[in-house]
Amino acid sequence: MDNLDLIIDLHIDGARQGPGSDEATRQAIALSGLKGKSGLKIADIGCGTGASALVLASELDAHITGIDFLQPFLDRLTARAQKHALSERITPSLQSMDALDLAEASLDAIWSEGAIYNIGFETGVRNWRPLLKPGGVLAVSEITWLTDTRPNEVEDHWTSAYPQIATASAKIETLEKCGYTPIGYFPLAPHCWLENYYLPMQQRFSGFLAQHKDAPAAQEIIAAEQHEIDIYKRFSEFFSYGFYLARKAAR
Ligand code: SAH
Repeated sequence: MDNLDLIIDLHIDGARQGPGSDEATRQAIALSGLKGKSGLKIADIGCGTGASALVLASELDAHITGIDFLQPFLDRLTARAQKHALSERITPSLQSMDALDLAEASLDAIWSEGAIYNIGFETGVRNWRPLLKPGGVLAVSEITWLTDTRPNEVEDHWTSAYPQIATASAKIETLEKCGYTPIGYFPLAPHCWLENYYLPMQQRFSGFLAQHKDAPAAQEIIAAEQHEIDIYKRFSEFFSYGFYLARKAAR
């Protein structure tokens, strides 16, 4: 079993594969101005097993294409959509976010929670823009510094893990530079990380290790996750995910 299979195994039973909450998705929906519109077309990019796709499908009159490059996660999304009687509104689609097979100017909204970092925020918002209809909405969550300065240890951790980490003002400037009008921002609250993501994952650690007979590769994955959790617990005042809402601007 290779590392990717191990990572799938650790995360597939999670209600989400990154920090977030149904309330945060609803808060972003409220800021998006999409509520009350009909026949919306939305792509949820890096949808995982469907945390946000399920909320979007139940809150909006919309069809959601759930895009991920891992078929096991999409299979789980299919099952969850069936369970919630939302199958008609959600189509799982196996694609990579760096080469999307979607028509230009076809989307009312692009949604992406905890996933755009895989290609980098700036590349993502720039390359996805043509897919939006004029005035279409971009809703993305992205790791963000909450303060202007921070301790060296957390600075070093994140700048080596993800050099594009920046403050909200810098992310908003990037959105403007890439042809968007920012319309909203809020940081995710600590329970989005701890209760909703890290704690359920930690509860899966022992079963995961037992299933893989304490294989070194499995132990390394757990150690890396535990290190990330420790960094979060010690430095949560200094970083979170920021949720950014923006509209495709004319130019
Ligand atoms: N949005 C979900 C999942 C976040 S985890 C949630 O909030 O729970 C990031 C997701 O991005 C994973 O499901 C991973 O499989 C997916 N991903 C990573 N790189 C990708 C790529 N290049 N193309 C498509 N999906 C990708």
